[in-house]
Amino acid sequence: MAARSEASTAMSDGYARFANSGPGRAVVKRLGLPAPPRLRRFKPGEELGPVLLDSAPGGRLFEPVRGILKAAGISEEGERYSALVFDASGITDSTGLRALYDFFHPNARSLAGSGRVIVLGTPPEACESPREATAQRAIEGLTRSLGKEVGRGSTAQLVYVTPGAEGAVESTVRFLLSGRSAYVSGQVIRIGPATAVNPPADWEHPLDGKVALVTGAARGIGAAIAKVLARDGAQVIGLDVPAAGDALAAVANDIRGTAYQLDLTAAGAPDRLADHIGGRHGRVDIVVHNAGITRDKTIARMDADRWDSVLDVNLSSQERINEVLLDRGLLADGGRLIGVASIAGIAGNRGQTNYATSKAGVIGLVQSMAPVLAERGITINAVAPGFIETPMTAKMPVMLREAGRRMNSMAQGGLPVDVAETIAWFASPASGGITGNVVRVCGQSLLGA
Ligand code: NAD
Repeated sequence: MAARSEASTAMSDGYARFANSGPGRAVVKRLGLPAPPRLRRFKPGEELGPVLLDSAPGGRLFEPVRGILKAAGISEEGERYSALVFDASGITDSTGLRALYDFFHPNARSLAGSGRVIVLGTPPEACESPREATAQRAIEGLTRSLGKEVGRGSTAQLVYVTPGAEGAVESTVRFLLSGRSAYVSGQVIRIGPATAVNPPADWEHPLDGKVALVTGAARGIGAAIAKVLARDGAQVIGLDVPAAGDALAAVANDIRGTAYQLDLTAAGAPDRLADHIGGRHGRVDIVVHNAGITRDKTIARMDADRWDSVLDVNLSSQERINEVLLDRGLLADGGRLIGVASIAGIAGNRGQTNYATSKAGVIGLVQSMAPVLAERGITINAVAPGFIETPMTAKMPVMLREAGRRMNSMAQGGLPVDVAETIAWFASPASGGITGNVVRVCGQSLLGA
């Protein structure tokens, strides 16, 4: 499969093109068909409209968020808002949940298209009493429902902030407000106290001076990740199999990065990679395990090779590489490990026992390693993409493809850049409080929700 540009893969959604045309809009409305809105995506120099910010009594996040809005030059005055942000951290029992209704009921209609709803709270596991934990857990029902109600390309998320981590929220608030999070909705994000939260000197180039490794960078989502990390300032080492050497070189040239040809499953691959990183760069700050394969068959028809190869590329090779980089001290303190899981690893998928096992394993890897790595200030997180417009999904049977595209709150597939932007947010030096998270980039897909 040749790499295709984002624009051309987006254009492959003929129905969305039709629904956004003059005559198409009328037909879609008359027949009550899904109307995929044009999503607001990040462009350098992006300016955000006013944000309406409020708080339940006793909220501890209102002032920090107000400071972030001020620093970002975002106004709080307006009639229509690019975002509604509510600090619910002061809610300590179920009767206090009424504050959410009191805020969203009068203001829901003033949210502009491609708007953002962000509710901030306290993780139930960090609450002081069962009543507080119950109320905080209840908020998830509100934000997930708002994601389905707001429409017109708007998103809604719940951000749980552990007490003491109030100073660690800036990268997340900026990411969620911006067009970078266009296809992320209905998510629950946890921010904990961090040993190191380093706000970048320039928020448009937060990865300046960082060295990033991206596996599977020759095409599809990996190529988009390499481009976005480079745009944000990182020096990128793109890795892919030798057979994809030409496409890999093209990506690397495009972003002034370097290309490294390696089959991750080859004998001795982790040590060869570590030698390469050590020799050329001395260290790596960001590792994105994106390379992945599918070998679909129901388990009764699946030969052992299909099982073994998928588990090896998608999961075991990540473990081996992490281990070597850590053992040899090549992953810098404050480093970022980022995996690419899948909603198939959350929901399961017919014909994908091998793939879903490997992707659920990526989630397990993130959750089990986060506390171990925390001591060194290294974070580990994963994205779980839903239906993303890539050459891989373009090959799906038409009915399955249409179902995947439409069965989400955005009524359309995401783009590789949407996955890449989410990874760049995890990678930020200001995201030191984010570890052990699995964030879906799925437009709030109905699958596995
Ligand atoms: P893709 O097949 O277009 O790209 C994967 C890249 O990984 C290829 O360039 C391939 O050569 C490389 N690769 C495979 N095996 C390798 C190995 N042994 N060593 C080095 N490189 C290797 O796939 P994509 O659609 O861009 O997917 C990227 C990641 O996102 C994968 O992990 C995939 O499982 C995941 N994902 C994709 C979607 C989607 O909708 N496209 C959805 C969920 C998850």
